[in-house]
Amino acid sequence: MQKFQIAIDGPSGSGKSTLAKSLSKLLGILYLDTGAMYRACGLKALLAGVSPKDETLVKPLLEQTDIRIRFENGSQRIYLDGVDVTADIRKPDVSVAASDISSLPSVRQKMVAMQREIASSQSVVLDGRDIGSYVLPDAEYKFFLTADPKERAKRRLEELSASGTTTTYDEVLAGILYRDHQDSTRAFAPLRKVEGAVEIDTTHNTPEQTLDAILRALGPDIGNECGKSGKSCV
Ligand code: C5P
Repeated sequence: MQKFQIAIDGPSGSGKSTLAKSLSKLLGILYLDTGAMYRACGLKALLAGVSPKDETLVKPLLEQTDIRIRFENGSQRIYLDGVDVTADIRKPDVSVAASDISSLPSVRQKMVAMQREIASSQSVVLDGRDIGSYVLPDAEYKFFLTADPKERAKRRLEELSASGTTTTYDEVLAGILYRDHQDSTRAFAPLRKVEGAVEIDTTHNTPEQTLDAILRALGPDIGNECGKSGKSCV
């Protein structure tokens, strides 16, 4: 089987990462969560007391910052200046800082170079906002997930509560709407559905139903790959 790339884009809480994790396991390919990289940049700005919207301060700060992705026991860990920040980057203030900082072209150029490097040597599934449009425009398979903002806020609240973060539904919804607007209206590589991407509304889907829909869309080539994993894919 030739190398292939799967791009999954969509707004926060649309089910991208759950889906990408399942696909990566099923197909035995690498999953890169690109949002984690912008989250690490946002965390760095917060720790340094620098506005994540100020390119003149952020650019030199990130030039002295070491962001590394490692894949340990099949899952992605992210290190900021040598410290594992995989859990810290999930906090709500970091989500907002990630969205703010990801609008800056210098930040995106640096992160996209790392993403393309990781994707260049193997079959991958990447999720984010600009994967099909900018990071991997030649990806063989492109998906765009959507869901009602209220359902997305409910899912995010459940995740945050499970990880011990205290917040409210209204706060989570406000954060989601803020990021939706900012991510889709920024000038550089905004969130958008590209032509040819398969759109799936996951509002009323279980994760399994979304995975089934994607596997059907991937077609028999990938279906055969699934066969190798010994599991039924559809
Ligand atoms: O996907 P996640 O919610 O973890 O992403 C955090 C933020 O990083 C998003 O709100 C978005 O602003 C930014 N992001 C991006 N491009 C990507 C992935 C994430 O701009 N490819």
